[in-house]
Amino acid sequence: MIDSHVHLNRREFDGQADQVVARARQEGVTGFLNVGYDLISSRESIALAEGDSAILATAGIHPHDALLLADEHGQLTSEGEQALEELTKMAAHPRVVAIGEIGLDYYRDLSPRPAQHAALAAQLSLADRVSLPVVFHVRDAWPETLEQIDKCGVPQKMGVLHSFSGDEETVVWARQHGFLLGIGGPVTYKNSKLPDLVAAAGVDMILLETDAPWLPPVPHRGQRNEPAYLSHTLKKVAEILDMEPAEVDHRTTESFIKLFGDPAAPSVRSIS
Ligand SMILES: [Zn+2]
Repeated sequence: MIDSHVHLNRREFDGQADQVVARARQEGVTGFLNVGYDLISSRESIALAEGDSAILATAGIHPHDALLLADEHGQLTSEGEQALEELTKMAAHPRVVAIGEIGLDYYRDLSPRPAQHAALAAQLSLADRVSLPVVFHVRDAWPETLEQIDKCGVPQKMGVLHSFSGDEETVVWARQHGFLLGIGGPVTYKNSKLPDLVAAAGVDMILLETDAPWLPPVPHRGQRNEPAYLSHTLKKVAEILDMEPAEVDHRTTESFIKLFGDPAAPSVRSIS
């Protein structure tokens, strides 16, 4: 399995990232995409990827931190221009395989919406400029995200809707545009709508993820999540699709490699 969305740099894993990765390996997790959400975490993701050949990195600014790029009126700031320049440099690193996580979050609404829109627009165009896919973080704002995509254009290298929480229409959009759905712990929760959406999407649109240290799958709810728990999500997805877990593992791993590259390959990007 590949954990397509994890934050091993978080303080929750302080000093233990090596053990956490070792435990995950024992459970059959052979690759990790460590996702940045601001400049510091993007740099930390790259450092992790440099230190372990199973880890790939992304660079990007989360909607919660949109003010790093734009002001509350949605104007890019001069600090924002500098940050974009730094992201552009990071994107040239051979183990940075996506721009993300980027998007809109109207659920927690931690930064002004005009700033979120400006940050998303700037990073969508960055992704196309550096020719990388995107990792979307979108909560309660899919119609608004689509509006932004209509203005900016569909990311040329496509990407993944991480911690997918959309509806059937979003699944249809993703299918039409070649986007994948990141499915994690919430698919195992009681009363989750995700099983129906996973069934509608089918295995070839799915990437497995933990979003660790957050969103632990059953039976680890209430604990710190870690990539070793990814197999619970794999088993649940296999059950929903009435497939063998090994087959779901194989197909989702192939999809990851097709979109982001093979963590184990000497030059990740030569794949695409
Ligand atoms: Zn995340």
